[in-house]
Amino acid sequence: MKTEIIKINNPAESYRDIERAAGIIRAGGLVVFPTETVYGLGGNGTDPAAASKIYAAKSRPSDNPLILHIAKPSGAERYAVTNEHYYKLAEAFMPGPLTIILSKKPVVPDRVTGGLPTVALRCPSHPVAHALIEAAGLPIAAPSANISGRPSPTSARYAIEDMDGRVDMIIDGGDCEIGLESTIIALDGDGALLLRPGAVTYDALCCVLEKVEISAAAMGEMTADDRPLAPGMKYRHYAPSSPLVLLEGSDEDFINYIKQKRSIENCAVICSPVEAKALGGENLVLTGEAGDYPTQARRLFSALREADKLGCGVIYARKPPADGLGLALYNRLVRAASHMVIKI
Ligand code: AMP
Ligand code: MG
Repeated sequence: MKTEIIKINNPAESYRDIERAAGIIRAGGLVVFPTETVYGLGGNGTDPAAASKIYAAKSRPSDNPLILHIAKPSGAERYAVTNEHYYKLAEAFMPGPLTIILSKKPVVPDRVTGGLPTVALRCPSHPVAHALIEAAGLPIAAPSANISGRPSPTSARYAIEDMDGRVDMIIDGGDCEIGLESTIIALDGDGALLLRPGAVTYDALCCVLEKVEISAAAMGEMTADDRPLAPGMKYRHYAPSSPLVLLEGSDEDFINYIKQKRSIENCAVICSPVEAKALGGENLVLTGEAGDYPTQARRLFSALREADKLGCGVIYARKPPADGLGLALYNRLVRAASHMVIKI
């Protein structure tokens, strides 16, 4: 398939391109578009055939449910059974990087929800995403625009790397501001369960809802969803093709460990600018400074892709603390590393 690649910075100035992209979605085609979290691979969320195309383009198992992207929080009414907690969260965090899971209404095809009785809804804040959903006049089903198992694309360059030839159009809207996929919270009855940590943190959710539980998966523990790639490799997701190893220890121990490893093996290192200065030499991929979690989040997936391209036998990165935005980073890194963590 020939993929058209277009650039849109300001949707108001590119109204005709947005209309054309929306037309592709309405006609059952696929459009990759930027959001504030990561690039999405969008299709008509009310059309089972479009959902099938999304799964095929990603090479993703079709029991993995898709998120429906809506233009405004009240748009959920047509597709899900909303409740007071939904509107409290919507008031606080929508539009933005939060996905809410509710009981679905029959209009949502089973193919979109992977047969589940629930549906995931998100209202993105990115102006291009918002304009596209509004112009389409439908909910847009959109998983991350990567081939299944690879790091999510956080710039058009990476979306093109994975999706060129697999979709009708890719909209280049620059780099994603957050760089990690949305926080996912499931609401049922009185309960709220954090399924995936993201830029809307656990603490922020607790400011709005009285009680939020954290699932084992959100804490980075292994679940049946983590796909075994090869025997011995256990489970990988968001993963580069070279093995990734997380190091847990002090700044000094980290520098010493890497120096020693570099003398015996060809390794790539994802590190902060300060650490890069201390280490010097080649095969260093920069993330944010220690404690600057927003920058670390923004750069995480591109760092994994860039580290992979260096073709080293192994990639090292530091294990982030599992709280605040660090929990979202930890959750992605520990999966990318197949849970290989070394205490140094
Ligand atoms: P992605 O679109 O790539 O960010 O991934 C979407 C993720 O949302 C899926 O892998 C599921 O983990 C989660 N999800 C979507 N819909 C549901 C649902 N109805 N129930 C539970 N999890 C869901
Ligand atoms: Mg994904």
